[in-house]
Amino acid sequence: MKLDVNVLRYLSKDDFRVLTAVEMGMRNHEIVPSELVDRIAGLKHGGTYKVLKNLLKYKLLHHDRSKYDGFRLTYLGYDFLAIKTLVNRGVFTGVGRQIGVGKESDIFEVAQEDGTILAMKLHRLGRTSFRAVKSKRDYLRHRSSFSWLYLSRLAALKEFAFMKALQEHDFPVPKAIDCNRHCVIMSLVQGYPMVQVKQLQNPETVFEKIIGIVVRLAEHGLIHCDFNEFNIMIDDEEKITMIDFPQMVSVSHQNAQMYFDRDIECIFKFFRKRFNMTFQEDRDDDDTEVEVDENSRPSFYDITKDANALDRELEASGFTKKEQNDLDKFIEGGLEKSTDSDEDEESDDEEQTFESNEERNLNEMNSLQLQEENRSDEVEAEVELDDNEKSE
Ligand code: ADP
Ligand code: MG
Repeated sequence: MKLDVNVLRYLSKDDFRVLTAVEMGMRNHEIVPSELVDRIAGLKHGGTYKVLKNLLKYKLLHHDRSKYDGFRLTYLGYDFLAIKTLVNRGVFTGVGRQIGVGKESDIFEVAQEDGTILAMKLHRLGRTSFRAVKSKRDYLRHRSSFSWLYLSRLAALKEFAFMKALQEHDFPVPKAIDCNRHCVIMSLVQGYPMVQVKQLQNPETVFEKIIGIVVRLAEHGLIHCDFNEFNIMIDDEEKITMIDFPQMVSVSHQNAQMYFDRDIECIFKFFRKRFNMTFQEDRDDDDTEVEVDENSRPSFYDITKDANALDRELEASGFTKKEQNDLDKFIEGGLEKSTDSDEDEESDDEEQTFESNEERNLNEMNSLQLQEENRSDEVEAEVELDDNEKSE
C-alpha cells in the first residue's frame, strides 16, 4: 500500500477537521451522511463540501452513494489521522521508506527530531483474511469497513501492551514507544528476519536461544502463536529479537498445547531445512553435521506456567475483556483455519457472531479515540514533516 506522506504537507487544518469528523461519525455509521460530517466539522459557508472533494482526491475518504450520500475513511485516511496525532505529540517528525509488508500490516521507518530512526507498524486487519470473506458476502460489504478500523486498532493496542510487558520481563523485543489508533511506534530492530539468513556461525546456540524464548514465554503464561522465521529478527552478532504479537494467547487457552507445539515445530523445521541441523528424533539423517540432544524439544506439560499472566498484562494496559474477545474471535479464525476454505455452515455461524459483535461495537467504539479527538490541540495543529523525507 502506498503511503504518500507528502500529501500530509498539503492538508490544511480544515482538511483534518473534516477527516476527523468522518472518523467520529463512523462510531455509529458505516457510511457517514454528508450532512452529519458537515455538522460535526462545523466549517462556515459550506466549506465542508469543498474539503470533502479534496480528501476524496487524495483517497483519504471513500464516497458511497448506494443508500444515501455519505463517506467513510479509507485506510489511508486512518493512517493520516494516526500519523498526525503522533507527530503532534512529538513522537516523530517525518515518515521515511517502507521496510516491511507483513501479512496484515505495513511497516515504515519514521524519524525523530534528533535523527533517531524508529519503526512504525500500521495494522491492517482484514487485508487478507477478512477480505476473502467479504467478497463472498454482500451483506457485509458496508459493515466491514468499520470493523477493519476497530479490529486494527485493537491489534495495535494489544501489540503495544505486550511489547511493553515483554520488555519489562527482559524478553528480546523492540522497545515500545507509543501507540495511536492502528499504529504502533517501536524501536527499529537492527538485522534481518531469520528467513533471509542463509548461514549462521553458531546455529546450535541460536536454536537454543530461540527455543528458550518459547519456553520462557510459556512460563510467563504466553504463547506467541506465530513464532517462525518471519517474526524472529537476527543481527550480525546473532542477537535475536522477536516481533509481531497481536495473536498471542494465554497458556490457559483451550488450544494452548497445539499452538505451543506448532511454534516449537516451526523452529525445528526451519533449522533442519535451512541449517542442516538434525535432532535425535530424525533417526534417518545422522550423517549431517550438527546434532542437538533430543531433550531439546520441550514438552508443554513439563513447563510450570503462570496461567493468568496474559489477562493481567492486558488489564493493566486498559484492554477490556470485551476488546480481547472481539480481537481473539477474529484472529483465531485466521489462526485455525484457512480463509480460502469453502463456505460451510460453520463459517456462516462465525460471520453471524462477528456481525453481532460489530453491532455492539458501534456504540462502544473507541473511548480512547474519543479522548484523542476531543483534545482540541490535536485537531488544530499542523503536521510538520522534515523536508529531506521528500525523496523517499
Ligand atoms: P505482520 O504482523 O504483518 O507479520 P510484522 O510485525 O511481522 O508484521 O512485521 C513485518 C516485517 O516488518 C517483519 O518481518 C520485519 O521485516 C519488519 N519489521 C517489523 N517490525 C520491525 C522493527 N521494529 N524493526 C525492523 N523491522 C521490523
Ligand atoms: Mg509477522
